[in-house]
Amino acid sequence: MQITILAGGIGGAKFLRGVRAAYPDDLTAIVNTGDDVTLHGLRICPDLDSVMYALGDGADDERGWGRKGESWRIKDELASYGAEPSWFGLGDLDIATHLVRTRMLDAGYSLTDVTAALCERWQPGVRLLPMTDDRCETHVVVDLDGSRRAIHFQEWWIKHRAALPARSFVQVGVDDALPAAGVLEAITTADVVLIAPSNPVVSIGTILGVPGIREAILTTPAPVVGLSPIVGNAPVRGMADSCLPAIGVEVSAEGVGRHYGSRKEGGLLDSWLIHDTDAASVPGVTVRAVPLLMTDDSATAAMVRAALDVAR
Ligand code: GDP
Ligand code: CA
Repeated sequence: MQITILAGGIGGAKFLRGVRAAYPDDLTAIVNTGDDVTLHGLRICPDLDSVMYALGDGADDERGWGRKGESWRIKDELASYGAEPSWFGLGDLDIATHLVRTRMLDAGYSLTDVTAALCERWQPGVRLLPMTDDRCETHVVVDLDGSRRAIHFQEWWIKHRAALPARSFVQVGVDDALPAAGVLEAITTADVVLIAPSNPVVSIGTILGVPGIREAILTTPAPVVGLSPIVGNAPVRGMADSCLPAIGVEVSAEGVGRHYGSRKEGGLLDSWLIHDTDAASVPGVTVRAVPLLMTDDSATAAMVRAALDVAR
C-alpha cells in the first residue's frame, strides 16, 4: 500500500514513526520547509531534520528536538565572539548535518537530492521529500518596537516564544515556488493520503501554500484522512494556539476540521479523526473519535490503523 503523509517537524516525526510501525511498506512524507533558515552561513531545515533524526533513531526524545547525545561547544564559542543570533540552538552534532547540506546546496544539488543523501546515513524507512526545492520561508507579521513588520518564523517562534501576537503569516517566495520532484505524483498515485496532526498553520498550511499541492489533494483518487493536533481546545504540545487565531480559526478539533474542509466543497478532507473525548461536526466529512495521543509508537500505530480503517 502506498501512503503519502503531509507532515511538519516534531508532531510529524512522531506520527511518521507510528505510520512506519503500522505499515512499513511504501511511505512518502512531504515535509514542511517553511521553517528553513540560514544562520551563521548554514542552511538549516528544522522540520526535515526532526523527521530524519526521529525516524533514524538519532533524536533526543527527552528534549523533544535535535540530536541525542548532543553537545553545545560551538554554540558557546559563537557566543564568546558575540556572533548573533544566539537564540537558536545549534548543537555540535546537528551542525555537521547543516555543513553537509550547505556544501551540497552550494555545489548546485537540490534540497530533494541533499535530503536523499542525508537519509542514506539515517535510513528513515520513509521517503522524505521537501515540499519544494525553492526558498519559501514563513514570516510572521507582528508589532515590534512601535512598528508593524514581518520577522522570520524562527525569530518569532524561538526568540519570542510565539508570545508576540501574530497579525498574519506570509510565505516569502511562495508564488514562484514549485512542488519538489515527486511531490505531486506522491499525492496523485497514493492509495491513501494522511494529514499528520501537525501545526495546521505553519506546517500543513505552509505545505498547502505551494502552488499545485492543494489542487493535487483536491483531485487525487485516494481518500484523504486528517488527524487533529488539537485535543480538548489546546495543542497537545507546542504553540499552535498562537497561530490559529491569527487566521481566524477556533482552537478546537472542530475548528481545524472546518478550516481544512470537505473535499466535496473544495477542501482537503474525506475523513477527520479527533480525540475520543472531543466532539466535532464538519459538513461533508466523516468524523471519528479515537485516542489521538502519541504516547509511544504503538499508540500512534493504532491511530494510523484507525485512519486507514475510516479511509476504507
Ligand atoms: P513542529 O514543526 O515541530 O512544530 O511540529 P508539527 O507541526 O509537526 O507538530 C506540532 C503539532 O503536533 C502541535 O500542534 C501539537 O498539538 C501536535 N501534537 C504533538 N503531540 C501530539 C499528540 O500526541 N497527539 C496529537 N493529536 N497531536 C500532537
Ligand atoms: Ca516546524
